[in-house]
Amino acid sequence: MSHNHCVDTIIFKLLRRLGNGLLFSLMCACSVVYATDADDYAEQRATLIAEITDDVRSTAHYLGRRELNQRVLTALAKVPRHEFVPRAERYRAYRNRPLPIGHGQTISQPYIVAIMTDLINPMPEHRVLEVGTGSGYQAAVLAELVNQVYSIEIIEPLGRAADKRLQALGYDNVTTRIGDGYYGWSEHGPFDAIIVTAAASHVPPPLIAQLKPGGHMIIPVGSRFLTQQLVLITKNEDGTLLTRQLLPVRFVPLTGKHD
Ligand code: SAM
Repeated sequence: MSHNHCVDTIIFKLLRRLGNGLLFSLMCACSVVYATDADDYAEQRATLIAEITDDVRSTAHYLGRRELNQRVLTALAKVPRHEFVPRAERYRAYRNRPLPIGHGQTISQPYIVAIMTDLINPMPEHRVLEVGTGSGYQAAVLAELVNQVYSIEIIEPLGRAADKRLQALGYDNVTTRIGDGYYGWSEHGPFDAIIVTAAASHVPPPLIAQLKPGGHMIIPVGSRFLTQQLVLITKNEDGTLLTRQLLPVRFVPLTGKHD
């Protein structure tokens, strides 16, 4: 089971069955369901959270939990995902699926953002490192939950745009930089938790070094061409590591010159 690609929408299935005349009127009708104000988006977010909650229940045997922390759900209910996708993608910002954000990259599927956030056990006093800023959405979700977020993006225009977006939305507890996140951000470490949102061939040793004892790191590990395993690493108080493979996922690759 891979969680990157989601089912086709019911609307598209209907459209395929209909003739051209009907198709036009249905498309017009569809446009009225697109959100035009904040309340519409809040309603769409609530529906999305209900879907995520169902997905978590049906994948409980992989995750080792049947429910997400209420704080995580509240954060997801608050962050305006439509602000993090290109304008042309807004109409489907609250579908439970990844979406293109340009430069061949994606904003991750909301279910994946939800479980990755939950699994690192974010606490209000935490300092968290994210590798792969992308649109800035995951960083914003984290910023609702922890004291300080540091996020690194390797593609400069994406990182700059995400930083601008996060500042405009008032997420002043997120600090971003352009660079290769494989090496972490030692000036601000060690971190209570680390989230890697691109697929690595192996767990980067510099990230392990920058994880606090007692901290969690979540990272997709495996081939850049096939599916990967979402891996949860916990650093014990004595520095030893506990590693759990959770579920198959598909992420864009962690790039850079480190391999
Ligand atoms: N977290 C993002 C969000 O909420 O929109 C989605 C991340 S996207 C799936 C993966 C991101 O990782 C891409 O923007 C990609 O450019 C970035 N990336 C890939 N390799 C990287 C590296 N070595 N260091 C930092 N970022 C990297």
